[in-house]
Amino acid sequence: MLVTVEGIVIGKRDIGESNCFLDILTEEYGVIEATAHGAKKIGSSSMSAAGLFSYSKFCFNKTNLRYTLNSAEPKCSFFGLSSDLKKFSLAVYFADIIKYTSAAEQNGGDVLRFFAITLFKLQKEEADCDLIKSVFEFRIASLLGFSPDLRACRSCGRYINGNMFFSFENNSLICENCKDIENIMGEETKLLSPQLLHTMRYVTYSAAEKVYGFELKGETRTDFFEFAENYLLGQLERSFNTLDYYKKLK
Ligand SMILES: [Zn+2]
Repeated sequence: MLVTVEGIVIGKRDIGESNCFLDILTEEYGVIEATAHGAKKIGSSSMSAAGLFSYSKFCFNKTNLRYTLNSAEPKCSFFGLSSDLKKFSLAVYFADIIKYTSAAEQNGGDVLRFFAITLFKLQKEEADCDLIKSVFEFRIASLLGFSPDLRACRSCGRYINGNMFFSFENNSLICENCKDIENIMGEETKLLSPQLLHTMRYVTYSAAEKVYGFELKGETRTDFFEFAENYLLGQLERSFNTLDYYKKLK
């Protein structure tokens, strides 16, 4: 059966001289693994449209759950990434997160759209890599089903009520008043500055195309960077070598 899908190449492994395996994030089928048989068979223009981080329209032969690439047509290329090691390494870390968490044959539309927006932002010359990293980490957690509940204090329902705390036990907010009343001694909580809470709410609830539209400075910047990374890795219960590599580049 022939299938045509749009997607972004998030992994590529060579097999021998001219063949390779591709991991492609698609809307309809989540992350799929496809075999590509050499430039001679599918043409060199298809081969370049199947490069890492190419956003292309792919035509596959699908047999059971195996995909073989017939052709690829570029839709959008993120050229700015390959010439910058730091940006490229960050994109590889993002791809790793998606590969680790996406089940095959499951709709990947929201993740695909968000990843495309992220790569577009990251390839820009003035890109703030560390901010993009943190926003990606915190927002992808929600897309993967680990959304924190930041709407209001979980007990009294107030949006802001004095000092606000984040509870790691159920990823919710609790105000200082309710925290005292409920005596939640065993619960791991963190005091959030108003600026940090505002940033967390913005990244969780704003529209995907607006999520990178802000700057962060000073203490809130450091706080959010730390919180976003710990939150995502805590939910996934693991770390990534590609993250260590990105950090070493600094
Ligand atoms: Zn409360």
